[in-house]
Amino acid sequence: MIPVNEPLLNGNEKKYLNQCIDTGWISSEGPFIKEFEEKMAAKVGRKFGIAVSNGSVAIDAAILALGIGEGDEVIMPTFTIVSCAAAIVRVGAKPVLVDCNPDDWNMNVDEIEAKITDRTKAIMVVHIYGLPVNMNAVIAIAEKHGLKIIEDAAEQHGQLYDGKPIGSFGEISTFSFYPNKHITTGEGGMIMTDDEALAEKCRSLRNLCFIPAKRFIHYDLGFNFRMTNLQAALGLAQLERLDEFIAIKRAMGKKYTSLLKDVKGIQLPLEKNNEAENIYWVYAIVLDDTVGFDAEGAMKKLAEKKIGTRPFFWPMHEQPVFHKMGLFKNETYPVSERVARRGFYLPSGLALRPDDIDVVCDAVRAILK
Ligand SMILES: *Cc1c(COP(=O)(O)O)cnc(C)c1O
Repeated sequence: MIPVNEPLLNGNEKKYLNQCIDTGWISSEGPFIKEFEEKMAAKVGRKFGIAVSNGSVAIDAAILALGIGEGDEVIMPTFTIVSCAAAIVRVGAKPVLVDCNPDDWNMNVDEIEAKITDRTKAIMVVHIYGLPVNMNAVIAIAEKHGLKIIEDAAEQHGQLYDGKPIGSFGEISTFSFYPNKHITTGEGGMIMTDDEALAEKCRSLRNLCFIPAKRFIHYDLGFNFRMTNLQAALGLAQLERLDEFIAIKRAMGKKYTSLLKDVKGIQLPLEKNNEAENIYWVYAIVLDDTVGFDAEGAMKKLAEKKIGTRPFFWPMHEQPVFHKMGLFKNETYPVSERVARRGFYLPSGLALRPDDIDVVCDAVRAILK
């Protein structure tokens, strides 16, 4: 089986993990946390990084820190992971959706302005798969209407938009370090901001809202969203290699595209959009309507050939959990609905060998013949 994802852990990971064990620093009090936060902030061009236990709770903390709550609206893409909408719904606010682009699958920024009401507080952008959202357009809309920007950068560590690091936009941004992301800590996430008060609020939410003056007395309810020193040890080792990892992903994407560009019946990822070159978080393809089976069928055929794949996101407006809450009923976003059914991604983890790409592409060609 060629797995859909396998991380590369052959740098300083073992060395730093051994240091944790040798020194006994395994909890969130260990020294690697601060070092990882500072190095990540430097890489992303932010003043503060707050390491947390995963990318989903990073979004929860970001929404809470911004004070978004009951009755507020946040505009976001329907084509994304559930964590984005869940964070908004959990505080009693309402996610207001826009469709995605047919070519890079990022939120269609032309649909944002029509969705703004006097309850709109923020725009949540999510950079999808390997190319960033059209940030210049989002920033212009946010400035014009006095809205905040939350940037979910979980899929694009090390990417640049118009020369500026992804994760450096808006009031607050979030990363995930799940094993299929560009750098991993096993499970993990980080919130990034330039605003000291927001950073302090996130640190407090991460650690049960303890107050420094008197422990075990609480004025707010927080969470245990803490990252461990063990995770930060992995993160530091991974971060040292981020540029190298991006180069590996780009070479992988280029090889896939060169081998698949003549195959009829599939749409390949764009090599670039206006402001960025693809970093291929995953190598994603969409079946043309002329192909007689959908993504589920294709993934089954590829599994029979021992090729691991994953489906695209399933849109937020088609999620049973949100229908149950009375959200998004009768809403339709045709581009997202189509790519959710026709799209999937091929093995594209960092440990994938170039020879495996040949095997995968032969299999893709065979099932489409
Ligand atoms: C992976 C991912 C997350 C969630 O991260 P976890 O660490 O798995 O909780 C959030 N947003 C996007 C866009 C992601 O791809």
